[in-house]
Amino acid sequence: MSALLQIQNVSKTFDLPGGQALTAVDDVSFAVEKGSICVLLGPSGSGKSTLLRMIAGLETQSSGAVLLNDTPIDGPGRERGMVFQAYSSFNWLSVGKNVEFGMKINGVPAAERRARAERFIGLVGLSKFIDAYPSRLSGGMRQRVAIARTLANAPDVLLMDEPFGALDAKTRWQMQELMIEVAEASGTTMIIVTHDIEEAIFLADKIVFLSSHPGRLKEEILPTFKPGRLRNKEDVISLPGYAEMERKIMRMMREEGHK
Ligand code: ADP
Ligand code: MG
Repeated sequence: MSALLQIQNVSKTFDLPGGQALTAVDDVSFAVEKGSICVLLGPSGSGKSTLLRMIAGLETQSSGAVLLNDTPIDGPGRERGMVFQAYSSFNWLSVGKNVEFGMKINGVPAAERRARAERFIGLVGLSKFIDAYPSRLSGGMRQRVAIARTLANAPDVLLMDEPFGALDAKTRWQMQELMIEVAEASGTTMIIVTHDIEEAIFLADKIVFLSSHPGRLKEEILPTFKPGRLRNKEDVISLPGYAEMERKIMRMMREEGHK
């Protein structure tokens, strides 16, 4: 059986004013297995966001193919849920109603909406805040609301572009640990964009490392030193093999900086 998502020789060229063109993504191929966490890692300008937006159907590739279940992606779809960096909750709706919002649009009956909202709000640890308004919540909590809202629509793939970039360090690793719990509990396939090496190694079943200008696939890195998914970040950092992988990726990042 083929992978859930297949990126096949995908390139994206943007036309710039003045007749010039910029190749943001150049002949990138990789696959994402169902139920796995794939991290797109690379320096700024390596085409990570552009790739994710093509997978989301928000951008069209110039050549190549993006296949979901062997079917070419043609625009946004409910089976792909996107979480953005900026907290995008509706401040006039409670946490519960925020999470129910997408399901309401999709015509999910009220009782089921409520049940699903409760499940996913529980999963992100916000049960006590189901009737609170987002303006009363911290940045990390609001990002949890966004994740719960996206998961409640039962996407096959959760797409996240630097989802924790705006959070302080402690909240950030707590969110990373939460994502492992969510992945384990829901079985959702995830594609996460980051430029943070530690975050990538902790979260990924597979790291797709992209080089910059143009964005090319430099290497697929499998953190096989991890004995499966660990929910505790210190446990991963303490594993034999962690430091070596971090060093290797730091070198790759540094090489990119000298181009
Ligand atoms: P990353 O997310 O890895 O930082 P991006 O995908 O945002 O990289 O961008 C890759 C390259 O494509 C950058 O050089 C960026 O300036 C360029 N780019 C992205 N979007 C557009 C656009 N809409 N028009 C022109 N250039 C773009
Ligand atoms: Mg980006």
